[in-house]
Amino acid sequence: MNPEENAPNILFNIFSGNLFGLSWPIAVISVFQLIIIGYLILVIYWRTKGTQVQKLINGILFLILIIGLFYLFKLRIFTFLFELFLPAIVVSLVVLFTPEVRRFLSNLGQDGLTWLFLLTWVKDTTSNNNEEPRSIKDLVKEIIDAVEIFSGNKTGALIVFDNTWSDRLYINSGRKLDAVVSTELLLNIFYPKSPLHDGAVLIRNKRIHAASVILPITENPKLNPWQYGTRHRAALGISETNPNCICLIVSEETGGISIAENGKISKISSMEELSPILEVKLLTLEA
Ligand code: ATP
Ligand code: MG
Repeated sequence: MNPEENAPNILFNIFSGNLFGLSWPIAVISVFQLIIIGYLILVIYWRTKGTQVQKLINGILFLILIIGLFYLFKLRIFTFLFELFLPAIVVSLVVLFTPEVRRFLSNLGQDGLTWLFLLTWVKDTTSNNNEEPRSIKDLVKEIIDAVEIFSGNKTGALIVFDNTWSDRLYINSGRKLDAVVSTELLLNIFYPKSPLHDGAVLIRNKRIHAASVILPITENPKLNPWQYGTRHRAALGISETNPNCICLIVSEETGGISIAENGKISKISSMEELSPILEVKLLTLEA
């Protein structure tokens, strides 16, 4: 049929309650579903921004794009091969990203429905937007200077570096600060008579996000109870739950410095050793 003849028909269909062959209620419901899907995609994008889960989502989107192109250009052999390997690709992605997916789902569970509301993440993301650019080197210098003093006068300290939004797992217990990291502020926080000295300081995106944070204690039965008290166990606990974080611990008993990461703790023998290690580790957290 001639398109000019068809045009009035389309208009007629729309006004008489038909859109692309769908009745109005169905069309409205379809549009509504599309809006919800768009909204969810947006929320997932913002909530996973900068995390490993976003890399996984990008990978999946890339796969969808590729298969879409194969179908579009009717590349049958490519499509056949792609479909043949698809289960293996999906399984490998899930295995590779298991810790991130687990963390993402556990955060989803913790936050419940609040996760779905724009306001919570808009607030979370904007709070970092006014952050002044600062190098890791400068950040490490401020921290190292404080740690040196803590170690020298045996002040207990626990600092967690975590750039992801998963701090929701344990933030309920702490005091939100959102402050610039400085040696003086760290000294103030961990000063034994300070109201914030108990618990951990959480550094997120180069800012002191919170203090007095209570972390999950590890349940590893192999740990020697004489060697590791609750501070070290809390550091190990969060590093097991959250593989994308690093914990710096100064012992109140010995002044010894340790780093906990991925459920393992390592002793640092000198300040000279700590500085480059911390720098490299914080750079990998940024990546
Ligand atoms: P240290 O070598 O400093 O004595 P430790 O591993 O022996 O450390 P404790 O002596 O039990 O540990 O340290 C107690 C301190 O650890 C508390 O005052 C508190 O600041 C911190 N702490 C204990 N439990 C937690 C927790 N769940 N989350 C964060 N910090 C904690
Ligand atoms: Mg102790």
